[in-house]
Amino acid sequence: MKFAILSRNGKLYSTRRLVEAARLRGHSVRVLDPLRCYMRIGVDGFTMHYKGRPLAGYGAVIPRIGTSINRYGNAVLHQFELMGCHTPNPSAANMAARDKLRCHQLLAAKGIDMPVTVFGDNPDDTVDLLAMLGPPPHVIKLNEGTQGAGVMLTEKPSASRSVVEALRGLYANFLVQEFIAEAEGADLRCFVVGNEVVAAMRRQAPVGDFRANLHRGGEAEAVEVTAEQADVAVRAAQGLGLGVAGVDLVLSARGPLVLEVNASPGLEGIERSSGVDVAGRIIEFVAAAAASDRPAPSPRRRPKGHLTEA
Ligand code: ADP
Ligand code: MG
Repeated sequence: MKFAILSRNGKLYSTRRLVEAARLRGHSVRVLDPLRCYMRIGVDGFTMHYKGRPLAGYGAVIPRIGTSINRYGNAVLHQFELMGCHTPNPSAANMAARDKLRCHQLLAAKGIDMPVTVFGDNPDDTVDLLAMLGPPPHVIKLNEGTQGAGVMLTEKPSASRSVVEALRGLYANFLVQEFIAEAEGADLRCFVVGNEVVAAMRRQAPVGDFRANLHRGGEAEAVEVTAEQADVAVRAAQGLGLGVAGVDLVLSARGPLVLEVNASPGLEGIERSSGVDVAGRIIEFVAAAAASDRPAPSPRRRPKGHLTEA
């Protein structure tokens, strides 16, 4: 099968590993910079070019879309979908995962537990908004933050109010959550591929911090997840429509809570700590799903711009 990996940088560990894993399994694979893909949209069909040449023949596309190019990257991915190309993570699911607020609404509606969350728009409502949540400590997060940047802990009502006011002054979108103190600065990254957690790591925040992100100096160790944790992680990924996802759980007194579902989870930390060939698992899953997804060839009714498998 011919794979496309949408990634800005072919030298990144995750991109390199996916390329390597695809080639090892006999697939052809090309890394495409989403910002160099340009497209034609018309009722007569969907086409896309890359550096002056048409893109055709891809059976599956694996998106690795960073925050900074979220919008354009997902438009490119959507064009691939419209051209009949299989993807484990459709553009609509990526967009939902990137937006913490939307993600929380979708998951809570499916009965998946998470820290209680409040958000609002008008400064006049701040006091009542915080009262809806209960007394501090509170965790305040930027809606589209990542890697732990923009996640703050406030211990007093006055601190929560000041941070909320400051963020409003900066026109930032944010949400406020109950603080899960019993997690003791640890979280659990579950790497979901299809209906399985293929690898997991426990991340522990450095002394003096509550954020377990590796980018914030957290330390990772491989762990086996329990059946309950695996079930929550898989339901969260599937609830958003993601075939590949990094689901972050915090372990609370009332059970595992979903903090975040990452649609382009990094492979380096999880492969190094668990020793699992996560890239290989992704390629095998996507190849199998793409093969069963493909409609039987029907020469008479093939839409214009439909990609054929090489
Ligand atoms: P980011 O997208 O920046 O990674 P997260 O929501 O995943 O934001 O939060 C970063 C880290 O902060 C988490 O991995 C976890 O360790 C800690 N954290 C986040 N929210 C809470 C919470 N409500 N209670 C306790 N710890 C939290
Ligand atoms: Mg996170």
